[in-house]
Amino acid sequence: MIGAGLYVHVPFCLQRCPYCAFNAVAGHQEFIPDYVESVIAEIGQRGTRLTRRPVVSVYFGGGTPSLLAPAQVEAILHAARRSPGIRDAAEITLEANPGTVDVARLRAYRLAGVNRLSLGVQSLDDRVLRWLGRAHSAAEGIAACTAARSAGFRNLNVDLMFGIPATPAGTWEDALQRVLMLHPEHISTYALTLEEGTALAARASAQRDRGPDEEEDAAAYQQARHTLQQAGYRHYEVSNFALTGRECRHNWSCWHGAEYLGVGAGAHSYLRGVRCWNHARLEDYLAAVQAGDEVCAGQEIIDVDTSRRERVWMQLRTDTGVALGRTERQSLQASPRFAVLREAGFLTWYEERLCLGTPGWAVADSLGVEVDAILEDSRHRKPRITA
Ligand code: SF4
Repeated sequence: MIGAGLYVHVPFCLQRCPYCAFNAVAGHQEFIPDYVESVIAEIGQRGTRLTRRPVVSVYFGGGTPSLLAPAQVEAILHAARRSPGIRDAAEITLEANPGTVDVARLRAYRLAGVNRLSLGVQSLDDRVLRWLGRAHSAAEGIAACTAARSAGFRNLNVDLMFGIPATPAGTWEDALQRVLMLHPEHISTYALTLEEGTALAARASAQRDRGPDEEEDAAAYQQARHTLQQAGYRHYEVSNFALTGRECRHNWSCWHGAEYLGVGAGAHSYLRGVRCWNHARLEDYLAAVQAGDEVCAGQEIIDVDTSRRERVWMQLRTDTGVALGRTERQSLQASPRFAVLREAGFLTWYEERLCLGTPGWAVADSLGVEVDAILEDSRHRKPRITA
């Protein structure tokens, strides 16, 4: 299941959602042809860096990748097949927003090679969608799912958001039930977060809005866990649920340390122990590629400590947990802080793997930080000198 991946960032969106902290630009679709050419050129320049392992996944993320025409997606995949080369059975995901796709367009994406579709439905309540500033309606969300099936997609993800202030009672459970009626193979659920620098954070601050409520978030999260697990979905990562065998291969590989090449504005790559990131501004990215300059704007060498930290943070969020070495396990077992977390059921051992206990799922990120801090402390503690 684990293998190298190619990530293609598509920053264009119809409009800017006020909560969005992604590298996205509203409008400016007139740049899309140049952008596609630049991405193809970048794959030609950097694709060979991904030759050590077979490429088992390609992920078009955004932004709104469904603003690319199917022929443009096909051209990018054609370039990727030449360099670095993609396995025949590779998972090829395209993120799409309702309102930007219909059956004909989706069928054309399939013919271009896309075999997994991720739909940003977010909510099935028009009041909530308006509050979020989304450019589509609930009916368009359902229509996009139905169109995906008609176009022949058999691997469909639906993104849903919870923790949205002023949501009418019952909206979340209703959304879960209605999405289940569409039988997607995969469902991702995310809490709305007020990211600094976004229009929503500014609005919340100006209006002294209470913003998302932590207790309500936790209740919505538990409800999603319960409802989706009852419906047969594996809760395989904090934010992700899948039917058997339909886990997102691309993300799973990234969480487990696989190499990936990211192309496009602001895309990150992880290759041979180095993480690097491309120029994020569209103009800077286009100028760099067109001039044949380096597209990476910065890089970080992932040393042993950083690698361990990331491994704990990312893999603890999965249902198979994180495999720890003997010394790491002994350090945790010797820690009174760890004992408290274990006794409270937040963490549990499954053979040599440290996993989340039932109450731990809602606070996985804090637990990752805590486990890492314990391991770090034990590494720097002086060995006891005995007589
Ligand atoms: S559609 Fe997605 S990427 Fe685009 S502005 Fe909205 S949240 Fe951001």
